Amino acid sequence: MRTADIRSRYLDYFAERGHTVVPSAPLPTPDPTLLFVNAGMVPFKPYLTGEDLAPWNRATSVQKCVRTLDIEEVGVTTRHGSFFQMNGNFSFGDYFKEEAIAYAWELSTAESGYGLDPDRIWVTVHHTDDESREIWRRVAGLPNDRIVARGDEDNFWSMGVPGPCGPCSELYYDRGPALGRAGGPEVDEDRYMEFWNLVFMQYERGDGPGKSGYPILGELPRRNIDTGMGLERMATLLQGVDNLYEIDETRPILDRAADLTGTRYGAAQEDDVRLRVVADHVRTALMLLADGTAPGNEGRGYVLRRILRRAVRAVRLLGHQDPALPELLPVARDCMSPSYPELVAEFDRISQQAYGEEDAFRTTLKQGTVVLDTAVAEARAEGVRTLPGAKVFQLHDTYGFPIDLTLEMAAEQGVEVDREGFTTLMNEQRERARADARARKTGSGDTTALRSVLDANGPTDWQAWTTLETESR
Ligand code: ATP
Ligand code: MG
Ligand code: MG
Ligand code: MG
Repeated sequence: MRTADIRSRYLDYFAERGHTVVPSAPLPTPDPTLLFVNAGMVPFKPYLTGEDLAPWNRATSVQKCVRTLDIEEVGVTTRHGSFFQMNGNFSFGDYFKEEAIAYAWELSTAESGYGLDPDRIWVTVHHTDDESREIWRRVAGLPNDRIVARGDEDNFWSMGVPGPCGPCSELYYDRGPALGRAGGPEVDEDRYMEFWNLVFMQYERGDGPGKSGYPILGELPRRNIDTGMGLERMATLLQGVDNLYEIDETRPILDRAADLTGTRYGAAQEDDVRLRVVADHVRTALMLLADGTAPGNEGRGYVLRRILRRAVRAVRLLGHQDPALPELLPVARDCMSPSYPELVAEFDRISQQAYGEEDAFRTTLKQGTVVLDTAVAEARAEGVRTLPGAKVFQLHDTYGFPIDLTLEMAAEQGVEVDREGFTTLMNEQRERARADARARKTGSGDTTALRSVLDANGPTDWQAWTTLETESR
């Protein structure tokens, strides 16, 4: 089944059951705790917290998501995309556990739904949630040994602030012994792939530290349902492919990258990971650009810049030195435009931004790589395995090499980086800039030298980008 059909089957199923179809919100979100929407419930948060009254009792959507926390997983696991689509059905004070479980089960297993083999489905429940266990047994006929109890870390949902919270229940599919070890999702989450998460917002929580340390104040007066089914994960299952990057919405990009670089997919693990990264990242960049994020040095723009640069670097490492995005981005557009027709109309703008970023990066790379390679050779000659902070700072300051790129490239050559030394120099530079700004306010001091550095590189956020986002589920 094509991904576009899995999507429409989901929306149709829930529309027939009284759910209003709500379009996806754009990826960049006004939510102050996030850079991008990272789950289907994000646009519905005010309704789920009770801050606003939902205009419907039931809704369904296919929400575009970007999870920066998953970027490093891409291509390494079989199931994490940096961009993915989360199908969801929501109840705002309407139906609860029984219906949510029955819907998920029916749509997953019925022939008119996704037709998954019911004997290969495992579920998890929160260890306190006997009610859900009983429903799974009764509604789905699941045996007890395929209903796994889990603790707060995996199966209790909350927003990290006082308010609604509750247990969740996840559905997993056993993809068979070729993909990993037996024993259920506790043993192997690649073989037993999670494809749907049902969140039962049942309790009201007070204030307190930690994820599980909060006092439960009592049952909510209006209980909600929030579910998320990974569209690409369902496509992986239904298209019988090994991983997320081989489904119809990404495989053509992967194949084009393999052609372009003369790489045979499936021949060598390291190359395979790179090809998957290219397929994933090019699609993510396309979707981010389409929603109005532009490459930049901070926040959202920086995430996009890193994604584009990682894709371009992966193609280079696979052996193709010429511009790659003009070959790959149109393929991604053709993969995604059946579900997102606006990509066609917007493609001129999107591609100009993407190609411009690749050109700028190529220039940076050309200059910086020489400096980096020399520094690595010098370090080796001196018998040290760490690049000095001053060199890393110079790469950043003079050649526009972000620290994460230096880290990545140094690691590829088996060399470490003196991060502390680099941080000290960065802080000194910031301090100089601040002092300079103060001096400018009082009308003294020559700022020209520092301005050019700032203009060329912008302010630098070199922290690992995992700190850029707070996951909310
Ligand atoms: P996992 O444990 O596999 O990382 P998760 O528990 O973090 O998944 P949820 O937050 O429960 O995922 O999201 C709901 C659903 O969205 C998941 O059941 C899965 O189908 C899908 N999903 C989550 N993260 C990704 C991702 N990075 N790429 C593709 N699909 C995803
Ligand atoms: Mg996860
Ligand atoms: Mg999980
Ligand atoms: Mg989950």
